Amino acid sequence: MQITALAGGVGGARFLRGLLDHLGPTAGHPDPSDPQPSPARLTVIGNTGDDITLYGLRVCPDLDTLMYTLGGVIDEGQGWGRAGESRRLQDELVAYGAQPQWFTLGDLDLATHVVRSQWLGQGLPPSEVTARLAARWGLPDLGVRLLPMSDDPIETHVVVDEGDGPLAMHFQEWWVRLRAAVPAQRFVAVGMDRARPAPGVLEAIAEADVVLLPPSNPVVSIGVILGVPGLREALRATSAPVVGVSPVVNGAPVRGYADACLAALDLPATASAVAGLYADLLDGWLVDEADASAGPWPDQVQVRARPLLMRDRTAAAELAGATLDLARELAPRRPRS
Ligand code: GDP
Ligand code: CA
Repeated sequence: MQITALAGGVGGARFLRGLLDHLGPTAGHPDPSDPQPSPARLTVIGNTGDDITLYGLRVCPDLDTLMYTLGGVIDEGQGWGRAGESRRLQDELVAYGAQPQWFTLGDLDLATHVVRSQWLGQGLPPSEVTARLAARWGLPDLGVRLLPMSDDPIETHVVVDEGDGPLAMHFQEWWVRLRAAVPAQRFVAVGMDRARPAPGVLEAIAEADVVLLPPSNPVVSIGVILGVPGLREALRATSAPVVGVSPVVNGAPVRGYADACLAALDLPATASAVAGLYADLLDGWLVDEADASAGPWPDQVQVRARPLLMRDRTAAAELAGATLDLARELAPRRPRS
């Protein structure tokens, strides 16, 4: 079974680790002396709209959260960054007065950004750089192929108004420095109109048996991926059922500020509103038991109520299993026009 998933950072990564736990160890690499692993069983299309250049280094927070979580080196408590991290290098940068000082980068994590920036500087495309980084953490051996949504630079910016008229800032500044406390008027994906899907992205959607939308932020994670020209059309055209998991439980995001993102679209933080954003491509939708009667749901979408809180890996694996059950029920789907 070929599974393709769209994913942001922490919510997507925890769900997809549960999916791998549910699927069990890969039969994909029976002979460790054979450097060629079997083809991927899971292709992850990661959001790169959160990417940012800091201290001259290219940082890809969502791709790295996916890579560290699936590779088993994530800081569990935080949900992002490396376990066992220290902060000596950034303390030195701060002592020099280097900016910004609001984005935390640990020493081990910084090595990822140094190597990424070096490879990008040598002219390798981001998809190749991502594959090289992911290889170190064993993703190919797990049967996972991690793809950036695009090789073209796309950055999510946020337009706010603190009283002096509209002001655009990088998404990370709004999310991390301002903690989304200043209302967003709108989001702009800078570079999107000229962007193309990364190599392999459209094929992974067309050739999938199942497409999953994990409980990632519907606006700045999944919404940005869906904005890559051609991607939405591919999701409508595939014969794989598209099954999603609500990131909103009982009328609130489980973590983060998805409510503040939805408010910029004049939408309430409900499982129903999120489903509406995917209405043209969605076949199955998992909502929490607390939201079972909190429709309306889009036409043609089969809704199932399950416990959606990923309290631990077991709960995440059960949730992933429930998405596959629903996908099997709905396969093959008739492509959407
Ligand atoms: P980010 O890029 O790190 O913000 O992560 P994502 O975009 O992948 O995911 C953020 C979303 O995950 C938030 O909107 C959360 O509500 C959602 N989320 C986090 N933990 C859980 C959980 O246990 N269950 C569900 N259903 N959603 C979750
Ligand atoms: Ca993110």
